[in-house]
Amino acid sequence: MTTIELFRDDADLLECAAVVTAVQDGAVRLDRTVFYPQGGGQAGDTGVLVTADGRSIAVADTRKGPEAGQILHQLADPADAAALAPGQPVRARIDAARRQAHRRFHTATHLLCALVPHPVDGCSITAQYARLDFHMTEPLDKQALNEGLARLVAAAHPVTTRWISDAELDAQPQLVRSMSVQPPRGSGRVRLVEIAGVDLQPCGGTHVANTADIGAVVVTKIEKKSATTRRVVLGLA
Ligand SMILES: [Zn+2]
Repeated sequence: MTTIELFRDDADLLECAAVVTAVQDGAVRLDRTVFYPQGGGQAGDTGVLVTADGRSIAVADTRKGPEAGQILHQLADPADAAALAPGQPVRARIDAARRQAHRRFHTATHLLCALVPHPVDGCSITAQYARLDFHMTEPLDKQALNEGLARLVAAAHPVTTRWISDAELDAQPQLVRSMSVQPPRGSGRVRLVEIAGVDLQPCGGTHVANTADIGAVVVTKIEKKSATTRRVVLGLA
């Protein structure tokens, strides 16, 4: 059974009511969830599953399962699995601060894509930093990138999503910016993330609703990882 992915259409949602569908190997599957599973370079959510009798069970990470559409809520203490069984109602609640950090850094990586017009061949988004690897040979100017980021954040551009079919995406291959992270396919549709006039690309991650919400994110480091790769690291100012 696939899990309804509430985080795709509402990244603000911090909790939801859900029903346990499976418990296996210290991981719990739900009929619906607000927990984002690690993917597209973005780390998974953490949080708690609250049982009907008020017990909070810690979720240490969220991963995709071996089958399409599966989301595994990995328990911090596998022994807690004994308190959960299929059919049981829970409240699924994510760590709000971690999610907000992911959203800010993730959206900032889209701004970087607009500032650095080269293919992306690696991406990692955590609650502490984000890094993006660009396939390019030219040097990058840290100060210019920081000025560009500050300008796009201050401009308060709305960040919106919409869905298109796989066929529509295939007809517009230029939309795919990333060489290593392919857009989530398989369901027949792909989600586009648009920062109007700035960036448009398929992306399944969680973003802020307006670039102003990115706040004080800056380029902390630029590294030459190889002759053809420049790594840009983002941190909180
Ligand atoms: Zn994204």
